[in-house]
Amino acid sequence: MNLILFGPPGSGKGTQAEILINKYNIVQISTGDMLREEVKLGTELGKTAKSIMDNGDLVSDEIIMSMIEKRIIKPDCKNGFILDGFPRTLKQAKDLDNILNLFDILIDKVIEINVNENILLKRILKRASESKKTRDDDNSEILKNRIVVYKKDTLPVLEYYKNLNKLYSVDGMQNVAEVSKDIQKILT
Ligand code: ADP
Repeated sequence: MNLILFGPPGSGKGTQAEILINKYNIVQISTGDMLREEVKLGTELGKTAKSIMDNGDLVSDEIIMSMIEKRIIKPDCKNGFILDGFPRTLKQAKDLDNILNLFDILIDKVIEINVNENILLKRILKRASESKKTRDDDNSEILKNRIVVYKKDTLPVLEYYKNLNKLYSVDGMQNVAEVSKDIQKILT
């Protein structure tokens, strides 16, 4: 089973992905995590990405696609994967389709986690205040920019999957268990 988890920053994608990978024995591919790893390792890619991420802007489609291309053909993806935080632009979605076509892989479903914008802000600021290792991009100004970028560049991706009849939405304002239950209903 190959899925895309879709939702704005703070919508709980990571939490739901974690539940799904255990239940279905598939892997999570988070471009955000992959980028943070590159930053930590101090690679050239990481150096390029860091300032962009710190501003809450999007890393270039070229960088993202080269990471995804390498990741998605690894053997651990055979049983299925969840894309988390990707695709984030229309270009990424179309490039992804081209790559998947080459390998005869299909995206089964795209699940959108719907949340209210004001509650989002509160959630992420709470996450930032509770965690010891704060993410550099979890502060209110940058978060607001991340939400602006999400609306401008990422929402069109939803339309793309809607037209392909692959889009399913869940109410992300419920608690973790309820959101998870709604997702499982879509997958069975
Ligand atoms: P969020 O909590 O905003 O969903 P992520 O961990 O997915 O955060 O991503 C953090 C940052 O990494 C983004 O703000 C962006 O700068 C960069 N990033 C992650 N995935 C992508 C992508 N698919 N395309 C472009 N930039 C990305």
